[in-house]
Amino acid sequence: MNVVMDYKAKSASVDETILYPNYTGQPLNDLVLAVEPNYWQNCFTLKSLDVDGTPLANYTLDGHKLSLQLTQPLASQATVTVHIQYNLALPPLQQQHGVRPQIFGYSQAQMNLTDWYPFVVPNIAGQWVLHDHWYYGEHLVYDAADFEVNLKFTDPANAPVVASSGESSPNGEWTRYTLSAGRTFVISASREYKVFSAQAGNAVIYSYYFPLYDKAAQASLMASVQAMQVYAQRYGTPYSHATFSIVMGDFNDGMEFSGLVFMPHSAYNLYNGTPENLLITVTVHETAHQWWFEQVADDQALQPWLDEAFAAYSEHIFYESVYPNALSWWWAYWPARVGGSASLPSVDISIYDAGGFIPYTNTVYLRGAHFLDDLRSLIGDDAFFAFLQDYLNQENGRIATSASFFRILRTHTQTDFSGLIKEYFKNSY
Ligand SMILES: [Zn+2]
Repeated sequence: MNVVMDYKAKSASVDETILYPNYTGQPLNDLVLAVEPNYWQNCFTLKSLDVDGTPLANYTLDGHKLSLQLTQPLASQATVTVHIQYNLALPPLQQQHGVRPQIFGYSQAQMNLTDWYPFVVPNIAGQWVLHDHWYYGEHLVYDAADFEVNLKFTDPANAPVVASSGESSPNGEWTRYTLSAGRTFVISASREYKVFSAQAGNAVIYSYYFPLYDKAAQASLMASVQAMQVYAQRYGTPYSHATFSIVMGDFNDGMEFSGLVFMPHSAYNLYNGTPENLLITVTVHETAHQWWFEQVADDQALQPWLDEAFAAYSEHIFYESVYPNALSWWWAYWPARVGGSASLPSVDISIYDAGGFIPYTNTVYLRGAHFLDDLRSLIGDDAFFAFLQDYLNQENGRIATSASFFRILRTHTQTDFSGLIKEYFKNSY
């Protein structure tokens, strides 16, 4: 993608080239792309669309679904080139009670490009997987892809500070950002950002923040460095990218993306100088998504427990390793954090049938964490971590399912865990 951004006008013009290799095992007659910016009126303006160098007239753009009818079938293992030019006019960020804040767009202090470009959605068992937006939770499913994003500003003398999913390098008048085997590519820009950085293994971690929050931003950075070490050791696989950016949101929500996460603004205000607060729990939670979301992806709409229960329980693994005295605080803190107690029994619900944000987080995150903790107690630490490492290895770069979770689990223990499945899940596995 070549992106020319007008920071002042809150707009961008994008020239995007997608190389899509057909790994589905079947010839394809069409492609389906997600175009999330088209959820907003007058945000996404398509200027040109061609496939393998030929302008394509046979397409439909309906809501966030762009369907391309290929003029000739794309053979298995063959690659098609889709070239799209478009303009983005960003919407203002939105925050309302009871729904997830909309973080795509701009505020006075920040511009966030999240799920901002058309991308080919996964094709699983012959079906294109594109779910609709919901009031809470995430709905997109991502194949792993390699990204090269070249960015420049219309007013380079007043260019903002840029945080992104990728590693940056100069490229003439552009700045080039690259990300290998990422799920999604984010850019967040602000004229106000300050930044701390630290090394964690082979990666550089950045903490971008607004002025006056130095102490909290530094604490978040250090917690993430520690979490990276804990997860690399416990999950047996290191962080997978060259950089990781923790970005203070101009909104109150934590949100994971590839190589970049947003943190709730309120967590910086509430930071109390100890490990026992929202800032540290959210930091290590979002860091954990770089394993469970990024390396092992899932269908976030239909089986969200596969990343959220894992990220929630990763907080437990962080605290038991680094601040063991804070573990009982951590369990007790959950009801305050999610605003209520568990009401739904089934960890394996979709975002659409959770019945609200509070039951959703209670069930998928908190009951999901209880399930993983009970499973660990039942089968023992050795089997539990050997299983997690194997599951991560087998599903790395792929889109895991509840079925693959239990299939791999069964190869690591003889213990009967059917009671736990009955207790925590609505489906049998
Ligand atoms: Zn999460």
